Amino acid sequence: MSSYHPFSLEDAIAYAKSIPDFFAADAVLTCEEIGDGNLNLVFRVADPQQNKSLIIKQALPYAKVVGESWPLSLDRARIEREALEIQHRLCPELVPAIYGGDNELAITVMEDLSGYTIMRQGLIDGHTYDHFAEHIGRFIATTLFYTSDLGMNQQDKKLQSARFINPDLCKITEDLIFEDPYRDADNNNFTEDIRPEAEKLWQDNELHLEVALLREKFLTRGEALLHGDLHTGSIFVTSDSTKVIDPEFAYYGPIGFDIGAVIANLLLNFAAQPGWSDNDAILQERRTWLLATIGGVWNHFEHNFRKLWDAHGVDIMSKTPGYQDLYMEKVLQDTIGFAGCKVIRRIVGLSHVADIDTIKNELHRHQAKVTALDIGKQLVKQGRSASSIAEVIEWAAAAAAKEGANV
Ligand code: ADP
Ligand code: MG
Repeated sequence: MSSYHPFSLEDAIAYAKSIPDFFAADAVLTCEEIGDGNLNLVFRVADPQQNKSLIIKQALPYAKVVGESWPLSLDRARIEREALEIQHRLCPELVPAIYGGDNELAITVMEDLSGYTIMRQGLIDGHTYDHFAEHIGRFIATTLFYTSDLGMNQQDKKLQSARFINPDLCKITEDLIFEDPYRDADNNNFTEDIRPEAEKLWQDNELHLEVALLREKFLTRGEALLHGDLHTGSIFVTSDSTKVIDPEFAYYGPIGFDIGAVIANLLLNFAAQPGWSDNDAILQERRTWLLATIGGVWNHFEHNFRKLWDAHGVDIMSKTPGYQDLYMEKVLQDTIGFAGCKVIRRIVGLSHVADIDTIKNELHRHQAKVTALDIGKQLVKQGRSASSIAEVIEWAAAAAAKEGANV
């Protein structure tokens, strides 16, 4: 083990060679840094002759935030690797294989998924993924069930949750999702055309009350080991395979947060579609697929979670008739509220999504933000009284039907 330093390309090659039984001793390896560069380095090390490669991800001790440096614990690399290992054990075909790592160097070595597409980009490019809802619904149900008090011994769960105390990364979520968008915060980031909408968010007490309740759940409800940042930029896809990466925000939190993250990002793409679809028929087709996929994500999650509970539940009291239904209703309502918070923050908060910000046509870009905020506010305000995922689909369709009226 050596002390922490950000890897050079040569360091990454040397480390890759030390992984047992991967590259041949005499292999001539190439290396490139392929990360987005804000929080982590991502190296792809390859032996082109043998067509073998792996990924080394290394955490940096800071995040670049609006030109400044925001210190971040390197322990998040351990948390990310240990979460990936648990997720891979539970859903091997939905998570990259882990080949090794080092806590002090803050690195994880994993399967190279270069043949896959980051889902956010795939959606922007107009692709649809017919197995996605089943895959991600099953991923969330399985990883969350087996790390919860329903699916694992409660004392083991307490010890496990101690390994996933992740204060620095939780603070990012607490600030950027559950606080800044609702006040005139320095870290907010929005275009001037959206200022009137942002100011409405700052004054909306009904909205603030719901956000305070959701924030409380994020702060206090250690239901299961969450991925913690399950947006479409953390999901690799092909037409028939799905792989979840990047759980550095993993911690014990409320189950609805992960499902809400997926649904929020599908809704953001839904709001963005007029900027990406060439004609009305394509627009309708893609939007219909996105709404069906939102329903599918929830339904596959619910079906798998209930099935695991019935077959593998470890808690005798959780078998009490009626409890499972109340539990699922709570998760649905949390999911909808969290999805709303995640939509809103991508429009007025620090970090945005390419689905909306890279729309070329200015009117479409503006309209996408207005539609997203309309949907996001509705989700946050109505989440606590919702009883079915169909309501989310209705609200999104209703927001789309208003388009044009408020450009
Ligand atoms: P960050 O936490 O900095 O967002 P990610 O884990 O999302 O890092 O990785 C950043 C980028 O690096 C991804 O968008 C992807 O392009 C690439 N990448 C990460 N992991 C892999 C992998 N296992 N295989 C191929 N590319 C990867
Ligand atoms: Mg990422």
